Amino acid sequence: MNLKNFFIGLSENKFLNAFAQKYGLKLGSQSVVAGTNVEEMIERVKQLNAQGISCTIDNLGEFVSEKDAAIQAKNEILEVIKAIHSHDVDAHISIKPTQLGQDIDENFCLENLREIVDQANQYHIFVNFDMEDYTHLHSSFSLIDKLSEEYNNIGTVIQSYFYQAQEYIEKYKDYRLRLVKGAYKEPEEIAYQNKKKIDQNLIYLIEYHLKHGKFTSIATHDDRIINHVKKFVDDYNIPKDKFEFQMLYGFRNDLQLQLAREGYNFCTYVPFGTDWYGYFMRRLAERPQNIQLVAKQVFNKKTNTMIGLAAGAFLAGRMTKRKK
Ligand SMILES: Cc1cc2nc3c(=O)[nH]c(=O)nc-3n(C[C@H](O)[C@H](O)[C@H](O)COP(=O)(O)OP(=O)(O)OC[C@H]3O[C@@H](n4cnc5c(N)ncnc54)[C@H](O)[C@@H]3O)c2cc1C
Repeated sequence: MNLKNFFIGLSENKFLNAFAQKYGLKLGSQSVVAGTNVEEMIERVKQLNAQGISCTIDNLGEFVSEKDAAIQAKNEILEVIKAIHSHDVDAHISIKPTQLGQDIDENFCLENLREIVDQANQYHIFVNFDMEDYTHLHSSFSLIDKLSEEYNNIGTVIQSYFYQAQEYIEKYKDYRLRLVKGAYKEPEEIAYQNKKKIDQNLIYLIEYHLKHGKFTSIATHDDRIINHVKKFVDDYNIPKDKFEFQMLYGFRNDLQLQLAREGYNFCTYVPFGTDWYGYFMRRLAERPQNIQLVAKQVFNKKTNTMIGLAAGAFLAGRMTKRKK
């Protein structure tokens, strides 16, 4: 098992997730998660806004299997929308349909989403539908299609690791889109496994949407892609108000600030809340060097050690199963 698969496996483990939720921000996650409640998050957003950076806010949580949990998540997101409005911060929201009941019942999920999009619409706040794994992709597109009949404050994400990403972007070109490489482990029947191919496809999608589409959010920490985009927008005279760069909270802070100072629109993805575990493990999966964040914290606190040990036990269990 390689490190990427190891951390993706950990991200999906329900027991570890529940265990981690009990103990607040641990394992170094506090440097990449903007607090556990709305007040802490809004303070971070204000600090970023003061540096000329806008924010997209993610109330952490995903793959919910109980209606009550989905309704609670919806209410929390409505609170976030109210807070954005009442504090008058430069921010919009990012939501995950699986947090709002997509796996329970699509109509139930649609109603939750409608309430969120409707309230955001009243305050002129944009709502981004994050894209999750392939098993939810078509259902998410269908939810977006239905809500687009009533609202135009929504957009979504196209993941360049999918072979069909070019078809998706043609269909959704009139939406505000975030373009990414893709964070989940997908099989080779449907997704490129080769980094170079994923990067090439991302460049294709970015160029296509900058030329033919609505507003483009280029979401990457990759210097080569960022430098390519800077040159491309110069060569094709693409105005700066047609696109923005996005990065995750706590990653490459200097570069985030530098791009904002260079006059590019910049938006930081700001996750907050107690359900940080799956998000954090995916960050470790895509860049094992991020383990440094963990290493700094893990050995000196009791609960970190417990979560670390539980993760180790889980890994040992998986490896034994595989050998059999
Ligand atoms: C704002 C935002 C929103 C996202 N939303 C989604 C979503 O809805 N669905 C989804 O599937 N995925 C999403 N992702 C995750 C995305 O798909 C990738 O998994 C993730 O961004 C890692 O790819 P990358 O392009 O940043 O660079 P990588 O391919 O991880 O790295 C490429 C190179 O960039 C440099 N680099 C990367 N990270 C760092 C760092 N921390 N410090 C220094 N150099 C670094 C290194 O040179 C590295 O070799 C999102 C990402 C961002 C930034």
